[in-house]
Amino acid sequence: MSTVHIKAYAKINLYLDVIKKLENGYHTVETVMHAISLHDTVTVTVNRGVLPFISLTASDTRLPCNEDNLAYRAAELFYRHRSMDGSISIHIQKNIPIAGGLAGGSTDAAAVLCALNALCGMPYTTEALCELSAPLGADVPFCVAANSGIYVAFGTHYGERLTFLDAMQPCHIVVAAANEGVSTPWAYREVDMLPPPSDVHTPQAMLSALSEHAPRSTVLAHLYNRFEDAILPKHTEAYQNKALLLENGAFAAMMSGSGPTVIGFFEAEETAQAACQALTQNGVRAWCSTTL
Ligand code: ATP
Repeated sequence: MSTVHIKAYAKINLYLDVIKKLENGYHTVETVMHAISLHDTVTVTVNRGVLPFISLTASDTRLPCNEDNLAYRAAELFYRHRSMDGSISIHIQKNIPIAGGLAGGSTDAAAVLCALNALCGMPYTTEALCELSAPLGADVPFCVAANSGIYVAFGTHYGERLTFLDAMQPCHIVVAAANEGVSTPWAYREVDMLPPPSDVHTPQAMLSALSEHAPRSTVLAHLYNRFEDAILPKHTEAYQNKALLLENGAFAAMMSGSGPTVIGFFEAEETAQAACQALTQNGVRAWCSTTL
C-alpha cells in the first residue's frame, strides 16, 4: 500500500476577460491565474494486487463522494490512460470555499492526478499531465501545473491552453468567501447579458509586468475581472466584502473567477491579519494567505 499527501492549492485570477461565446455554448477567455497558499489536503492511497476500485471520503459533508466529485473523475481518467492494477482511495480535507471561483474541485482533481503520477513512477511530465487533465475542466491543467510547482500561467481558449509565467513577488492577501456560492454557468449567462465594456482591456500590460519581474504593485495595477461587472451588482455579500477589504487597508481588491470570493491585496502581513480579523468580526469567512 502506498500513500501520498498533496497540498491542492486554490487559484485566483489576476486577469480574466470573456472573449467570445462559441456556437457550442462555451466561452473563450483570456486569463492570468496565480496559485495561492490556501489549500485542501488530498491523500491518495494505492493498494496494489486487488481489483480496480475507487473510494472517496471528504471532511466536508456537502461534497459528493462519487463520480460527481471531480477528484473521483480524475482517478477514473488515470485508470483509463494507464493499465494500473490495484484500488485507489482518496481523502479530501476541504479548506477552500466551495463554488467560490477558486477552482476548489479542479485543484482536488489535479492533486489526484499528480499523486497517481508520483505513485506510478512519474510516467507523465507536467506538460503531458496538463494535457491529459483538460477533459476534466478548463481550470484543471493550471491546477496540475500549480500542484507541480508552477504557480502562474496565462490561459487562453477555455483557459486550458497555458503559457507558464514566472511568479510575482509573494503578496499578502485576504480571501473573503460568501455564504452563497455562484454557479459558473449562471455567471457566464449574466456576462452574456452585459453591454460591451466601456474600456478596452488587454492582458498585455500585466503579462509584460510579470515577464519583466516588475514590482507586484505594477503587476497588480492591471487587475481585471469581467465577471465583476455582472456579479457584484447582484451579489450583496460579495459587493460588501470587497468594500470591507478596501476599508480595512487593501490596496486593491477583486473577485476571483466567476466569484463570489473576493481577494484583498496588502502591502504588509500585519495589515492583512488585522483586515482578516475585522472581516471575521463582521461575520465573513476570511483567510490570510499569500500568492505562491
Ligand atoms: P471554478 O473556479 O473552477 O469555476 P469553483 O471554485 O467556483 O470552480 P468548486 O469549488 O470547484 O467551484 O465547486 C463547483 C461545484 O463542483 C460544486 O457544486 C461542488 O459540489 C462540485 N464539486 C465536485 N467535486 C468537488 C470538489 N472536490 N471540491 C469542491 N467542489 C466539488
